[in-house]
Formats: sequence, structure tokens, C-alpha cells
Amino acid sequence: MTVARVIVDVKTRALAKPLDYAIPTVLESRVRVGVPVLVPLGARRVVGYVVDTAAVSDQAALRELEDVLDESLFDEAGRDLALWIAQEYAAHPIDALRLVMPPGSAPSLVRVSAQGGSTWALRKPTVKALEDRVVEVIEAGYTPPGHARLQRSVLDALRAGPVLMSELRAELGPVSAAVKALQARGVVRVTSRRHWRGLKSGPAGASGVRHELTPAQDRALLRIRTVAAGSVVVLDGVTGSGKTEVYLRAIEEVLDAGGSALVLVPEISLTPQTVGRFRARFGDQVAVLHSRLSDGERRDQWDLAACGRARVVVGARSALFARIPGLRLIVIDEEHESSYKQGSAPRYHARDVACHVAATRGVTLVLGSATPSLETRERVLTGEWSHVPLPARVTAAPPPVVEVVDMGEEFKGGNRSMFSEALSCALDAVQDHARKAVLFLNRRGFASFLLCRECGFVPECPSCSVSLTYHEQGSVLRCHHCGHQEPAPRECPRCSSPYLRRFGAGTQRVEAELASRWPGLPVVRMDADTTSGKGGHERALMAFEALTSGVLLGTQMIAKGLDYPDIDLVGVMNADTTMHIPDFRATERTFQMLEQVAGRAGRGDVQGRVIIQTYWPDHPAVVAVAARDPGLLYRTERESRLELGYPPFKRLANIVLSGPDAQGVRAASARLATVLQEQIPSDWDVRGPADAPLSRIKNVYRRHVLVRAPTGAPIGILLGDVLASFTAGQGVSVAPDVDPFDLL
Ligand code: ADP
Ligand code: ZN
Ligand code: ZN
Repeated sequence: MTVARVIVDVKTRALAKPLDYAIPTVLESRVRVGVPVLVPLGARRVVGYVVDTAAVSDQAALRELEDVLDESLFDEAGRDLALWIAQEYAAHPIDALRLVMPPGSAPSLVRVSAQGGSTWALRKPTVKALEDRVVEVIEAGYTPPGHARLQRSVLDALRAGPVLMSELRAELGPVSAAVKALQARGVVRVTSRRHWRGLKSGPAGASGVRHELTPAQDRALLRIRTVAAGSVVVLDGVTGSGKTEVYLRAIEEVLDAGGSALVLVPEISLTPQTVGRFRARFGDQVAVLHSRLSDGERRDQWDLAACGRARVVVGARSALFARIPGLRLIVIDEEHESSYKQGSAPRYHARDVACHVAATRGVTLVLGSATPSLETRERVLTGEWSHVPLPARVTAAPPPVVEVVDMGEEFKGGNRSMFSEALSCALDAVQDHARKAVLFLNRRGFASFLLCRECGFVPECPSCSVSLTYHEQGSVLRCHHCGHQEPAPRECPRCSSPYLRRFGAGTQRVEAELASRWPGLPVVRMDADTTSGKGGHERALMAFEALTSGVLLGTQMIAKGLDYPDIDLVGVMNADTTMHIPDFRATERTFQMLEQVAGRAGRGDVQGRVIIQTYWPDHPAVVAVAARDPGLLYRTERESRLELGYPPFKRLANIVLSGPDAQGVRAASARLATVLQEQIPSDWDVRGPADAPLSRIKNVYRRHVLVRAPTGAPIGILLGDVLASFTAGQGVSVAPDVDPFDLL
């Protein structure tokens, strides 16, 4: 092999294809797939990664590799996956390669002096493997002399078996000399062993009890066991229906057969409780990967999986890229969650990548959810994916009673507060009987909309079926999909009420009103302000858990990972906020949010009560949750997506252009839309450019263009090609998002 194909670490779209370099004879034996190399590029020296080797090149006048590091950072499988992601999501391959490299392993370039001048060299990163020294007795018959008290203590401490040097020191003080003396006499042996950072045991109380499976769980397990390699099984069951127990059993079977398993959970659900449940069952065979680990911990957890010591990997989105030998099973819990979509390049969706991995490597993929996404439901409907319902909670607790309160009626009846009659009475009862309640307040919309307080009307775009965003300046309403604009009406177009207002209240206002109307009822507030910092989320939950009676008040974050049996009442203060996010998924997300919150009520022996306050009581999501019939939502939503041409019936890409200069961004977005119009096949279409719903973030102006294609169309490939030759202009950046989760 004389030629190395190299992806260079330079984020220019024109350099997104591998460059060929000649391999000097002295480096030949060290060059293979995955090694970092130092290469010349123009007048510069840059870091690159070898993605392939070849005997000949069709590129003219090859330059030579200048240096190589010996540790390969990805294998052929990792490379193939990364290059597939780069193509699928129109991302730069260097960003995709970073996903499959061990955390913190990318080398840097340093200047070193050489023969009077200076030159560039590759330097390995500083994250290092740590060693533990282990002391053990190998000659038991020895008794140290009377004055050697410390030696006797050391031998006492070692009587039960090998002990870490660091532990001996912690217990007995400075013991090095004593250990050395014993070692010299051949009484003890000191060996080195890898110290694995981040190996903390789960909290006490995580029980490893293996329950007798219910018939529904049995069916699910049987299905997972018997589907063909590479298949997808959808576990469709409410919170508490025993999905996790099924995952645990499926993993057990994989381990028994000598394989490994990967479990993805949303970052926010990756709590000590969740991890504890896996540790309780599988002990230190479990590696955990998420973003809150230190670099060293992450590297060690990754290595534990890569060397085959940990055969169960539990992690957030990016754990999908851990190297796991013998992988047989991937589980994605809460597959509908937005956190599976990465928000920066490469903007991949973990579910879709897992699906590709499953198909190419013959791994079984299990998707669990109480509210499967429409994308997933559609593939179940077409028979492509296997579907197993878990229809009921495992425990005998009856499902909660859901009541819907029409806030427009309340308003007309003279109640102008944010607590309806029903919710007020329910809170009185919580206080009187010293029980617990959760009040759920949707994050105030990033963009505001107008809402009629008498009839609930919200102005919508005539062609996109999304809510129009209200802009105070100039008092206009805008559609952020197509750019449609109209003046804001002064009274409600439907009922002529003058109470057409901006919508939304913050948690602090609700907290204040709670304090004044229910003095003495403790309130724990949980929102972005009160939970910033490490462990903030858990601290708030623990504070609530410690109460015998009180209210937990929070934003969407409390809908997840909250599992206390003693919540009688769940109140949704304003279901309308998510209904009117200017996005085609608004209805689906409202449904998921309401289901999730409702799932928090009454998990003990008491039947829970859920009160949903809304100005739109016959919204399909509200109706479906109240009737305990998800089918109601899925049928109407499916029809509307089909009619309007949204996923899962079309494929979208959202290209966001941004920069400090509004004129430049406008011009570039218009040019890009034109170029796209010219290059797309006839059955695709382009919408926009329009201002992005978040049209300005920290003085950066944002516009976007939408591309729509038939399902399965190679939208990333076309975008990658178009963008490789598109010049956006000074200071304008272009960020393509294929299969966007939202269009903000
Ligand atoms: P999910 O993941 O769907 O929310 P879990 O697997 O966590 O459901 O189960 C909910 C609760 O029921 C847990 O406390 C679990 O230990 C318990 N559980 C699960 N399966 C069984 C079973 N077959 N018999 C009794 N208890 C079970
Ligand atoms: Zn009205
Ligand atoms: Zn529109």
C-alpha cells in the first residue's frame, strides 16, 4: 500500500472528500485505517485520519504523509458508520468520525523545535489510563519481628485478600516502606492493574428482584427472542407497564448467549436510579456513558465496553457509537424523545442511526415508548416493524381519571385567575388531606402567539397549518414555515372578543399565586433557573420526595424520570403552549407531554387524578388523553400529515442560514433557495426562505429554507453536493438539518 486516503480536520465543505497522500517507506508499516496523521495542505500542516489505503491514486502529484500516531481510533465498521452518517445528514465527515473515536482521543498539533528551526508534530491527548497497585500475600507463614508493627498491620489488612495500595495508605498511613520490605522478603506481591474511573455502584435500594413476567411481558420477550436478525421490535406500553423489566430479561438472554447489549435512554432519565436498576441486575458488567462524566471517566467507561469487560452499555444518545464487541441487542427507551436528535453537526437521530446499525450488523433493535412517534407508528402500520403492546400497568393501580377544564368558559364565568375551579378544589383537598400534587407549567413559548381568552382561538397560517407567531414590533403575525405575514387583529376573528392576548405565564408567577392562596402548602419549584448546575435536578426531586405533603411545580423537565408512588393530583396549568409551537409536530408533542404527565398520577394504591386546563378542550391530543385512547390522536394526526405533506409521509431538510449581518443572510438564503430549486428532482419542493421562528439569537440573524422530498429520498446526498459548491458569503454560516426534529 503506497497511498493513504485521508479526511483532514478542516471544516470546509470543499474538503469533505478524502485526500490522497503518498506513504513514505519508513511509515508504511504503521499506516492503517483509523490512525491520525500529519499532512501538508497548501502551506499548512493539518491533522487527518486515514480512512482507507490503496495501491494507486487517481489524484495527481501526491504529497507525502509526514507523521503517524500508532493508535488506531476507529476500525472499518466505525469508519463505514461515520461516512454513512456524514452522507445521510449532509455533515462534514470529520464531525462524523469524531463520534466513533474514543472520547478525548483526538490528537493536537504542536510546534516542536528541530535543528535550529521548528516543525509540526502530532501530540496525543492528555486523557490517560490510570493504574491501581494491588498488594497481595504470596507467602503466608511469615511473622514480622516485634518492632515492625506497620508490617504486621499490613499483613493483617491483607488477610482477607488483595487490597489496593491506596486503601492501605488511607487506612494505615504511609505504608510504602513496610510494603517494600515485605516485598523484598517475598512475602507480598505488588501488581498493577487498570483503574476504571466512573465505576460507582448504584444507590442502595435498587432492587435486583426478577419478577415473574406477566403474559404481555412474556409475549414481548418471545418476540424479541424470535425475530430475524436486524429486525425492529416496538414495545408500546404506558409508563409502569413493565417495559424495563422486558429489556432486562432480553439483555440477560443476550449475555447468556455470550453477546453484549446497548441501552439508550434520554439524557435526563439517566439518573442514578435508572443506572442502579441495571447495576442491580448485571453488576460491574455495566458501563455508563453520558455527558456529565469527566473526560477520564468517559474514556474509561468507553474502554470497559471496547475491551469486552462491560457487556451492557447504558447511555445517552452518543453511547450508540461506543465500540461494543459482540453487540446483539440495542434498546432505545422513550424512542419518541427529542433528545435522541443531536442539535449540532452531525445532526443525526439516534433511532434512525440505530436502525441502520441493526440492519447492517444483524442486531435486534427494541424501541420502547408510551407514545411512539408517528414515524415509528407508520413503520408498524406498514408491517415493516414488529409491534408488541403492553396495554396495562403491571401494578394493580387503576389508570388515572383525566378531567379537562375549558379555560375560556372559566374566563366567561368570571374566573380570571390561572387556577380553574376544579384545580382550586383539588388543591384544597391536597392540603386538607396532607397529600402531594404536581403542577405542570409548560415552558413559556420562545415565540409568543395570540390567544382569545374567551373562545381559545389562535391565528394560524392559511397554507402551513401552524400557529402564527406574534411580533410586538409592528404588531404583525408571521408564519415561520413559508414567510406569510398579516397584521395582528384587534379582536378575535371568531367570536369578536376584545380579549385577544399574548399567552404565557412563568413559574414564578404561579409560585406566587400558590403561596398567597394556599399558605402553608410547601412548594418545590423546578425549572431551568432552580436546577442549573450539577445535580440540581436531583436535588429538587429529593426535596420534593422528602416532603410529606406539598406541591412540585415545574416545566417539562418534571414530566420525566419522576417515579414516586404518592402523587394524588397532576395539574397541567396551560396545555396550550405546546399546541401552538410553530411546528408541524406541535400536536404530537402536546399528546406526548400530556400522556407523560398523566402517567405520574396515582402510581400507588390510590387512583390518581389529572386536571388539564386548556382553551382548546377539543384539541385531538387533549381528547385522546382524556379518553385514554391514543388511537384518536394518531388517526387524525396521520391524516393531517398525509394531507399537508409532512413526515412520515415526506422527508424534510431544514437549512438554517445565520450571521450577524441581516442583509448578507437574506441574500444568501435567497440564493440558496434558487440553487436548490434548480437542482432538485421534479417531485421535491423548496419552501422559503423565511425568517426562522427563532429569528434572532444573541444578535445573530437566522433564516431558513425547507426542502421536501419523498420518503427515503437521498436528501442528504443532494444537499451535501449543493452545499459543497455554494458560497454563502462573508460571515454567513449554513447549517443543514436532515430529518429535523423541529423547525425552530
Ligand atoms: P416501564 O419501564 O414500562 O415504566 P417497569 O419495568 O419499570 O415499567 O415496571 C414498573 C414497576 O413494576 C417497576 O417497579 C417494576 O419493578 C415492576 N414490575 C415490572 N414487571 C413486573 C412483574 N412482572 N411483576 C411485578 N412487578 C413488576
Ligand atoms: Zn374568540
Ligand atoms: Zn405558512
